[in-house]
Amino acid sequence: MAQISELFGSMVFGDSVMKERLPKDTYKAMQKTIKEGKPLDISVANVVANAMKDWATEKGATHYTHWFQPMTGITAEKHDSFISPTKEGGVIMEFSGKELVKGEPDASSFPSGGLRATFEARGYTAWDPTSYAFIKDKCLCIPTAFCAYGGEALDKKTPLLRSMEAINKQALRVLKLFGNSNVTSVKTTVGPEQEYFLIDRALYEKRKDLIFTGRTLFGAMAPKGQELEDHYFGTIKPRVQAFMNELNVELWKLGILAKTEHNEVSPAQHELAPIFATTNIATDHNQLTMEIMQKTAKKHGLVCLLHEKPFEGVNGSGKHNNWSISTDTGINLLEPGDTPYENAQFLIFLCAVIKAVDEYQDLLRISVASAGNDHRLGANEAPPAIVSIFLGDELEGILNAIESGKDYKSKGKVQMKIGVDVLPKFPKDATDRNRTSPFAFTGNKFEFRMLGSAASISCANIILNTAVAEELRQFADELESATDFRIALDSLIKRVIKEHKRIIFNGNGYDEEWIAEAERRDLLNLKTTPDALPYYVSEKNLKLFSTHGVFTPNEARARYEIALENYCKVINIEALTMLDIASKDILPAVTAYSKELSSAAIAKKQLIADADCGYEKSIVSKIAALSGKLYDETGVLKGLIATAKDMGYEELSRFCKDSIIPTMEKIRSYGDELETITAKEYWPMPSYGELLFSV
Ligand code: ADP
Ligand code: MG
Repeated sequence: MAQISELFGSMVFGDSVMKERLPKDTYKAMQKTIKEGKPLDISVANVVANAMKDWATEKGATHYTHWFQPMTGITAEKHDSFISPTKEGGVIMEFSGKELVKGEPDASSFPSGGLRATFEARGYTAWDPTSYAFIKDKCLCIPTAFCAYGGEALDKKTPLLRSMEAINKQALRVLKLFGNSNVTSVKTTVGPEQEYFLIDRALYEKRKDLIFTGRTLFGAMAPKGQELEDHYFGTIKPRVQAFMNELNVELWKLGILAKTEHNEVSPAQHELAPIFATTNIATDHNQLTMEIMQKTAKKHGLVCLLHEKPFEGVNGSGKHNNWSISTDTGINLLEPGDTPYENAQFLIFLCAVIKAVDEYQDLLRISVASAGNDHRLGANEAPPAIVSIFLGDELEGILNAIESGKDYKSKGKVQMKIGVDVLPKFPKDATDRNRTSPFAFTGNKFEFRMLGSAASISCANIILNTAVAEELRQFADELESATDFRIALDSLIKRVIKEHKRIIFNGNGYDEEWIAEAERRDLLNLKTTPDALPYYVSEKNLKLFSTHGVFTPNEARARYEIALENYCKVINIEALTMLDIASKDILPAVTAYSKELSSAAIAKKQLIADADCGYEKSIVSKIAALSGKLYDETGVLKGLIATAKDMGYEELSRFCKDSIIPTMEKIRSYGDELETITAKEYWPMPSYGELLFSV
């Protein structure tokens, strides 16, 4: 194998390739575009496109694509070859600046939430030069934003870039007040930790539920689950290690900083964490990571499950979004500093996050809401559906001291008088680890832990960036007009702590008591996706989005509708799959088994007149009772699905939550009980034991 340092980024048209292959002035123009967002001249784009094409074809690429992220949450690509006919009847490889900068995919089949009904049906893709082009499967992929002709965002990248611009603008205003004149840009950074399951492909193919829905709709618990806690950080099995090794190489080639890999809590569950990057690049990379995980698994006879809850009874999968803000001069603004002004600056940014999380709890909850993630949040394995912040005792103690103007006494250390510009040194890693908090301060960044494993991290970061931008805007407005900066700063920080400390909770988020406490604090507890989504379009939130140019009211409404629609469709597919499995697989299987038991008993009686057939009778009657109930409930479910046909999505989403899902749970419970009394050779699909323990 080539040296890893040589391999790394070898499929990326990154900085070193550009430096090597572009004329000096073109390279400089590109740098300006990447760093400062300066638009690129078409003549420059032509030179870049040609260099890209030469580089890509040398590496074996034959096609190019505008790689984009529609609102389906996955990525999209339409390959075009570089070939262009010559007069002589041959072909040459061509790629123009125009083709690089803009594309027009026929986009009518992507979700638009009604945006395209009112505007032109077509959409266009526009190059995002801040995320490097790369080669995947012999195709040069150009990261692009995807918009409608009227400019409405139809994707997950455009609003993310807008939100990054919003926080950049407001953070610069605040930094200027602290005298940072050399900072020219501020960017948020993200390191997403990705959880996933690996199971045997042959077994997967025998599970319709996994194939159609990504999760098991039936499955009695195996005799062993995660109770021995022997999988977490356990030795990695050779087959899994071989998968991880190949995955790492593939990711490194794409310049993705895959760093940490380990076994997770559930059997068959694993995690991959990259080194953090700028938010839009981290988002692109996470999408690629998920795609390459799935492809690589196939090569190893495995299937990578990214669903949030593939198996009932063991932990599901999430994605920890580690988030911070940095300047182009290399300062992490969430790192408590060494000097008084750095400390005050840290506090102002900390306060912006606290206030943002408190005021936009609803949006943060929405940003992680999906049918799949509803199985995790609040289910004693993932953070609760209530949004709160963990700061650790030390930092909370400091904030309390500032608020009350009292002396601060750190554990075992001397008392000190502190104010906004004097902070005691607190040991970063001593911030106690709290695994139950949805939003935890971890020394120099926040870890947002509510994200589901399957979703794009874009939404969560759009909300985080925009909400914090709004608070920074308010702070800047207030401080810029102050006559005495120090006094204004001091009172602002005190006020924010006082008004928003209800969002801070250092205790156990899994505790029942916390739910009651959160209610007393008037915090939101939006348990399911249908509970959360309507807040998307509240007046407060529409105002936030439009103030910062992140979403117009129409764009926000479109996203709300798409999320609702997606939720309903997912539940509908699950319900139909469940009916299919119940009637075509489970009922016939238990009937056959019951028949076998009955004929065995009759044969036994013929052989031995007074034979005891208690066992056969008991199982046959249990099967009769359970399959009767199962059959009845499938009838109920069919009726519900028929009733749902004419509902609008808003009503339907609540109907799914209140009627369809509870009925599905009943059906499952009968099915799972039947599994426990049916002979293995009769059961129509692989068991949890086989799925979870066979790799
Ligand atoms: P753990 O949460 O297991 O303790 P680490 O603290 O090492 O792990 O980091 C977890 C993730 O946080 C990694 O992906 C890491 O790159 C990322 N991270 C570290 N610093 C930052 C930062 N300033 N901004 C965003 N992410 C960061
Ligand atoms: Mg973590």
